[in-house]
Amino acid sequence: MPDYYDILGVNRGANKDEIKKAYRQMALKYHPDRNPGDAGAEQKFKEAAEAYDVLNDDSKRSQYDQFGSVGVNGGGTPGFDFDLSDALRTFMSGFGSFGGFEDMFGGGRGQMRASRGGDLRVTLHLTFEEIAAGVEKTIRVKRFEACSTCNGSGAAGGREIRCPQCRGAGEIRQVQRTMLGQVMNVQPCHNCGGTGRVVEQPCRSCHGDGRIKKSKEIRIDVPSGVAAGNYMTLSGEGNHGRRGAPPGDLIVLFDEEPHDLFMRHGRDVLITVHITFAEAALGTAIKVPTLDGSAKLKFPAGIQSGHILRMRDKGFPGLRGRGKGDQLVKIQVTSPAGLSNNDIKLYEDLMEKEPVILEKDRYSRFEL
Ligand SMILES: [Zn+2]
Ligand SMILES: [Zn+2]
Repeated sequence: MPDYYDILGVNRGANKDEIKKAYRQMALKYHPDRNPGDAGAEQKFKEAAEAYDVLNDDSKRSQYDQFGSVGVNGGGTPGFDFDLSDALRTFMSGFGSFGGFEDMFGGGRGQMRASRGGDLRVTLHLTFEEIAAGVEKTIRVKRFEACSTCNGSGAAGGREIRCPQCRGAGEIRQVQRTMLGQVMNVQPCHNCGGTGRVVEQPCRSCHGDGRIKKSKEIRIDVPSGVAAGNYMTLSGEGNHGRRGAPPGDLIVLFDEEPHDLFMRHGRDVLITVHITFAEAALGTAIKVPTLDGSAKLKFPAGIQSGHILRMRDKGFPGLRGRGKGDQLVKIQVTSPAGLSNNDIKLYEDLMEKEPVILEKDRYSRFEL
């Protein structure tokens, strides 16, 4: 038979306070939450709970002292009778009477974890021009804000009591038996939203939640040079927490709108410019659109279709003041279609002259 006094490390004359104290130390040390996957710790946790269950109960204790067993399952079953759910029940039932038990687990566990307001996510679509220059945007979000009637407390009279559903733990534990053994299910308590406390008389405006859904305008200062997939975190701009708990964050994800003329390649901007045979042969200067307006670009005489000209510093700025990219201009020589009779004569004259392309230069490798 197990020696319950040995298990708790108390002598046979120990009073209730000593037993309670000894059990508390054991239970906290070997609690499954603190020793995940440790079968030895779980066994000790169960033994301690069983020992406490017997020694804390006067009649069970005297029976145990007299006969060496309590006769749970019809009397005299060798070994231990407590399974994990029994042990957890004992542990939880000790909760209230111990007073400040939750502090032992590091400051009201559920409370810190469950009640911070949720994060909000929005996607902000930006044009290339906005990205290049940087822009200030105003967006409208629907979020929970502190209820003004109760100042976010959720209580009409200001008084809070321990949640009766979870007895202040902020979470509900259920032990299920499965083929693999016992599985413990821990979920935040719905009654109190994981805070472990409920208001005695809920505020009528927010029904005790301490917050109300509102539409809110938020200004976002978008720095120049951001790219699709970059994001910004506005801390504290998410949902307000329940009953005065801290708010979550607002996460702003940037996305780029496709542009009619430009392509983006990192910090560079790509554009195609179409020129005529004559412009290509003789050279020209053309005003080319850029992210911040336009700029004149010289096309040297004899430029070929497919060649790329570079316009320095006409690309996107780098983030955090890093250097600017360039604008790359791809030349596309366009052949005239639908010629007039005069034009046909002109091109026939051109064709009769020396060939512009020598036979040896006519062929080259297909480049993608
Ligand atoms: Zn309220
Ligand atoms: Zn609760």
